[in-house]
Amino acid sequence: MYKAATVITEALYRRVVGEQVEKMSELRNTDIIYVTDLVACSHKYHLRRKYPELTISFEPSSVLGILLHKGLEEVLMSEGYEVEKSIETYVEIGSKRYIIKGRLDAYNPNTRVVVEIKSSRSSKDLPRGHHVEQLNIYLNMLNAESGILVYITPDKIVEYSIQREKIDLKNLVKNVVDDIVHPRYSWECNYCIFKKICTYYVEEQKPQ
Ligand code: SF4
Repeated sequence: MYKAATVITEALYRRVVGEQVEKMSELRNTDIIYVTDLVACSHKYHLRRKYPELTISFEPSSVLGILLHKGLEEVLMSEGYEVEKSIETYVEIGSKRYIIKGRLDAYNPNTRVVVEIKSSRSSKDLPRGHHVEQLNIYLNMLNAESGILVYITPDKIVEYSIQREKIDLKNLVKNVVDDIVHPRYSWECNYCIFKKICTYYVEEQKPQ
């Protein structure tokens, strides 16, 4: 015999949704571009600024990912890493100054190694190009030599050492601001929260 309970779910909801609601005004700010915007479809950035509430999610898979991040960050903290470290830089395009913001999952202040944690339901096609690119942008922003990209999936724990490669940050920002690349990857629209209101939506072609 049982009755429905909501004690834990409500606690998770308050934390997970509360953190997203707190960020709403920042998501509308036209001066702020996140590092994750630089490695994604440029049109998402423009739609997110107009419809930020559509980004709020309480999907079990994303809650699981958040909890996994928190757990691994705690392990890394006990190994001397700083976790959830915010970084930012500035890029000027024309007369406008953009703040480029990122948040490192973990950073070792002694070795200057940046750690990016990814959870995924699938172990296919690892490491993923946009994750490598995201970590490389962090390395460029910090002028750090190398980072570790770690994946935890239901059947794998694998990590990749990524060396810094020079990037043209201004060009990446310009692509986003001018809305040049939409989508950036053929799979991107299928997973996009804006696909029902997006003029550029492209259905992924199945292989023949
Ligand atoms: S549906 Fe596709 S093109 Fe439109 S914003 Fe999303 S990823 Fe970009």
